[in-house]
Formats: sequence, C-alpha cells, structure tokens
Amino acid sequence: MSKLTFDNHNRFSEISETDKKYMYSFCDEYKDFMNNAKTEREFTTEACKLLEDNGFVELGSKDKLVKGDKVYTINRGKGVIAAVIGSEDFCNGVSIVGSHIDSPRLDLKPNPLYEDNHFAYFKTHYYGGIKKYQWTTIPLALHGVATLQDGTQIKISIGEDDSDPTFVISDLLPHFARKQMEKKLSEAIDAESLNIIIGNEEADDCCDDSSDKVKCNILKLLNEKYDICEEDFISAEIEAVPAFKAKDLGFDRSMVAAYGHDDRVCAYDALKAIIDVKAPKKTAVCLLVDKEEIGSVGNTGMRSRHFENILAKIISKTVDVYNDLLLRETISNSICLSADVCAAFDPNFPEVSDKRNIAVMNGGIGVVKYSGSGGKSGASDASAELMANIRKIFNDAEVMWQPSELGKTDAGGGGTIAGFVANLDMEVVDVGVPLLSMHAPYEVAGKLDIYMGYKCYKAFFER
Ligand code: MN
Ligand code: MN
Repeated sequence: MSKLTFDNHNRFSEISETDKKYMYSFCDEYKDFMNNAKTEREFTTEACKLLEDNGFVELGSKDKLVKGDKVYTINRGKGVIAAVIGSEDFCNGVSIVGSHIDSPRLDLKPNPLYEDNHFAYFKTHYYGGIKKYQWTTIPLALHGVATLQDGTQIKISIGEDDSDPTFVISDLLPHFARKQMEKKLSEAIDAESLNIIIGNEEADDCCDDSSDKVKCNILKLLNEKYDICEEDFISAEIEAVPAFKAKDLGFDRSMVAAYGHDDRVCAYDALKAIIDVKAPKKTAVCLLVDKEEIGSVGNTGMRSRHFENILAKIISKTVDVYNDLLLRETISNSICLSADVCAAFDPNFPEVSDKRNIAVMNGGIGVVKYSGSGGKSGASDASAELMANIRKIFNDAEVMWQPSELGKTDAGGGGTIAGFVANLDMEVVDVGVPLLSMHAPYEVAGKLDIYMGYKCYKAFFER
C-alpha cells in the first residue's frame, strides 16, 4: 500500500546523488540557452540548432517517414514542432508536450522613434500581462528583426554584450514623486510613458533640415550599423527585454533567476526530452508555440490550424494510405501535457495562495488539474482518469511532482494553451515548473523543478 498521507513540500533532501549531478549540469546548460534565446524567434533558432545537432532533420526534406525518424518544422520563425516517429499506429494517438516560447516584454511601436527635449526615445507597446512599474529603471536590450522591402532580414541584438550600450526607461525620483506614490500601483506608470531612452546627442548636420537633431543622429547611427531607415521600423519586430543574464540564485545555488522562465523553462525541458527520448511507442511531439501571453491568437499561436496541418503532414508521410479520418482519430486519441509554468508559494505574499493547494519551490513539477478564474471560469479541467494516468507515469519514472492550483479561489487566475488543445478533442493537463515573480523582468525557478520538468516530459514521451 502506498503512503497514507500526502503533502507538497521542498524535496531537495530527497533527490538522489545521481539525479542531483544531472540536475546541476542540466541547469547550467539551461542558463546558457536562455542567454541566447530572449525572444520567440531566438528560441526558435536555438532550438533548431539543438535539434539538428541531435539528428533531427527538416520535415520537408523527407518524403517518407519511418519508426524512429526525427523531424522538425518551423512555424514562421516563431514556433517549432519536433517529432520522433513511434512504433505504434497513429490511430492510437500521439504524445504531445506543448509549451509557449513568447514572454511578456515591451514591443517597439510601428513608428517608434521620436525626440523630446533633446532625448531620443523608442515608444513601446507592452506585450502580455506586465506590472508596468517593474519595467522602469532596469537595463533593457533590444532584440528582433527588421525586414526590408526586398525581403532582406536584418537581425538586431544589442544590449547583451558587456561592450554594448544599454537602454532604460526612466522613473520619477522619490523627491518629486509625492503624487505618483499616492496612485494605485496599476496607475503609477502609464503605458504611454514606457518610452525607452536611446540617445541624447545631436547630429552635426541633418540631411533633411529636421529640427530633431538627436533623433537624426540616432537614424544615422542605425543606418551605419544596420543599413535601415525610419520607414523600415514599420516592417520590424523589435522587442525590448531585460538585459539580465540567467544566473544561479542563492548562496546554495538551488534556484535560477532569469528573464522569460515563463514559458521557456518548460519549452527547454520539452525540447531536451524529445531529443533524449528513446524508441517511443507513440509518436512523440514537442510543440513550441507563440502568442500564448496574448491569448494564443494568430497563425503562430495555439488557436491556429498549424498544428493540425503539420500533424497531417507527418501522418501522411508515415502511413501507406492517408485520409482525414485517420488524422481525426489520431487527434482524438492523443494526450497532451500543456507544459506551462505555475505559481509557487511565495512566503512574502501568503495571502493569495491556499497553502494546501499550491506548488512549493523545489517541490517537483507542478500538476495543475485546472486553471481559469472564479468558479473555474475559462478552465480546461483535466479528467480524473487522465490525472490517474499521468500520476502513474510520473510515479513509475520516479519524477518528483506536486499538485497545484493557480492561487486562492477568487484571488485572480489565468490560462494556458490547455483549453485550445482540449478544443481539438484531446486529453490535456497543465504540467509545469513553479515560479516566483511570474511575468516580472527577473523570474525565479527551482533547479529541482527545472530538472523534474525534463524528467517528466521524457517519461511521458516514453509511456
Ligand atoms: Mn505561460
Ligand atoms: Mn505567462
């Protein structure tokens, strides 16, 4: 008989020496990866490098697929689907681990550059759920692409290297902030004041007699460095992200602080899991999507038909006779782990959590039966049958896991891609790494949880 009682607790002392060794090196590699993957586009690029280094080839390069084949495909530069063909028939379903690779940030507006009182600025439009005050007075880096009319793509990444300049949004000095300090936190920083300082020096001569000489100087510098002009911003996607490096947190190095754990930590775990999976029975699919933070919309988000289209392609390349019914059957019989981060109990803010139903830092991967808000509104509520199934998979593989809710009932709430996956007629449950300070410029994850994410996704692929 199994243990009578159950509780969530920190499990660092329970981890085996072997697991501990793997855990530390796994997290070192994770930090390196995160420092090169600060946007969904960069994550996509880095993920494909890793996949190719490990024997995955582009789906398009194969006419026929057989058991054991490893393929990947990119969705518009902002998402990846990787698969390892299993030995079982597709109609029994596939195993999917789905994560999102977009994170909250500040996007440059379509026409971002302006001058005000001798300062040059970039205007931003925030992306995802942020607490705006957290984004002032921190070092920012600019990452993205500018696509020219002839299709040339110019990659931009500035503010990460020690020799690079940095960028920042100013805030009011406390001396003059009496009125600001009386405002509600949500109103203290206005969205339209999230303007990034990018220069203060005038150009000697301005080509078009502009009175905005600082702006003109910036345009000259950008033209020299990137060969772009002001109109090119309209076909650019440039994201201002925290310039912080991912680092060990604490004297004991038991945690990792980084920008973008949500949800790149689960995405990285899923990626490593599909790379390491050995001869899966069911075809294993690692699904990395964009736009979760703004509702999974658009052709790179989970609500797009992209996933079904690619699955159809994979199946049709594997079987002798393909038809739509086979695709439908495959989807209906599939199981998906929606690999997204959950909230960890924060002793600084105990009032928002039900202590018996919240993940704890380094207590194992969080299994979230439902998210949503209020009376489970908007939640994809995983079935008891599915919960039993994955509980057994994790326990058999000695994965440390813990059940969690998204905070106290009526404290707030949120969602993941789970609901959209469920709409496809599939079993799905949220399983992800617990975080402190989710959506902040610098989020915190536990090393045990990061490693257990990898271990549980791999066990699921090998079910
Ligand atoms: Mn997320
Ligand atoms: Mn999020």
